[in-house]
Amino acid sequence: MRKLGFLLGALVVLGAARIAAAQAQNNEPAKSQQAVVLHAARLFEVEPGKIVSPGEVLIVGDRIQAAGTSVPHPAGARTIDLGDTTLMPGLIDAHVHLFLHPGKAEDLQTITESVPERTIQATLNARADLMAGFTSERDMGTEGAGPADTAVREAINEGLIPGPRLRISGMAISILGGHEDAIGFNPAQHALGNADYANDIEQIIETIRQQHKDGSTFVKVYETGHDQMVPHGSAPCLGNPICATFGIGEQPGDPKFWDFHTPYQYTEDQLKAAVAEAARLDTNVGVHCQGEPAARFAVLAGVAAIDHATQLSDGTMQLMKEKHIPAVPTFVVFQYFADHAPTPKAAALEHAMLNYKIHEFKRQVAAGIPMAVGSDVGPFPHGTQAKEFELMVRYGMTPLAVLQADYLNDPRILTWQNEVGQLKPGYYADVVAVPGNPLQDITAVEHVQFVMKGGVVYKNDLAPGAIQ
Ligand SMILES: [Zn+2]
Repeated sequence: MRKLGFLLGALVVLGAARIAAAQAQNNEPAKSQQAVVLHAARLFEVEPGKIVSPGEVLIVGDRIQAAGTSVPHPAGARTIDLGDTTLMPGLIDAHVHLFLHPGKAEDLQTITESVPERTIQATLNARADLMAGFTSERDMGTEGAGPADTAVREAINEGLIPGPRLRISGMAISILGGHEDAIGFNPAQHALGNADYANDIEQIIETIRQQHKDGSTFVKVYETGHDQMVPHGSAPCLGNPICATFGIGEQPGDPKFWDFHTPYQYTEDQLKAAVAEAARLDTNVGVHCQGEPAARFAVLAGVAAIDHATQLSDGTMQLMKEKHIPAVPTFVVFQYFADHAPTPKAAALEHAMLNYKIHEFKRQVAAGIPMAVGSDVGPFPHGTQAKEFELMVRYGMTPLAVLQADYLNDPRILTWQNEVGQLKPGYYADVVAVPGNPLQDITAVEHVQFVMKGGVVYKNDLAPGAIQ
């Protein structure tokens, strides 16, 4: 029965999305579409950072026309009463992998699963993320599935399948023998890596152009390679994924006793070339960047954000403040790997890295660098990534600061400023409803009960039969 209910729900959702797509294709003026008024006990105003009561949003077509404690109710408008909930803009995740799933290492997914299989999985993941309230996402690489993300994004945009609005990169760009390059397999098998190779500026530019041709909307670069935690004074263990010296010493991960090593992959000049080429295409560069000196290179080059940002020097943090380049901590994936490591030794390593990260994050918050919210979902289950908000609060930010990071800084990274992230006239009608008050209890965002994207209702737990 549950399955049947789900199927019917999905068909209704698909039908609604198709209608919306058909309307968009016919270029119907927004005025001719039925107005919708959302009403709830509360509404979160992002910029002033406050909850008002009650909350109402007027939607016509795919855009918001008015929002506040009360809005005009045009004749014939459909009112959806969402009861004792808080209306908020749709959640944004600046770091997802729709083509990854938990339970198998990323490089093994590339080697053992076909691209069609992974694409089907990606469509299910897109739906799970949307139903969890994420209406905009930046997909940080298909990790071995080439430009298959273009097909997923197109299917979503055409209303064929439910999913968030997406910025996509195709595959990440990386150096030969670099991050995620199928290291440790029998060389005679020529195992596929998870990235597109580029070893110099010419190759970087050529790769960006090829990815652009294949449908990418931004550039993803692996800027750091293999990470290691070693006790102070120890040499990094070259080529050994779990350092031989690991396990010695007190308080694993405490920067007083431990060092974090991560090699850079591209020089500042090479990154500058990538940023310039992306700018020529009216877009930007996202980086996997765990630490120094890579973070400094990336910030000087002008990337959109520093993703993972486990280690940032004082000088780099100063530059991030001056240039308004946010860090995207991606705590959930670190937490998940620490909790699901295959061996006790690996678990200890992952916990040491998480502890180190928490120490450094507190320093970053104290320094006042801009933050954005991205989870790195994919290695852990899609649809559960709102946990990122909770962890950012647990490790040092206020609920309001985390919500503003998500709603104000993520749209800049996704180049959807003035389009998503606020309940204001002219913005996309991307609206979620959560129980309780997220400023008092941030875990409210993990229990999204209502999801609207572009004026189409995809989920309404408060009146499940009313989706249309
Ligand atoms: Zn990632």
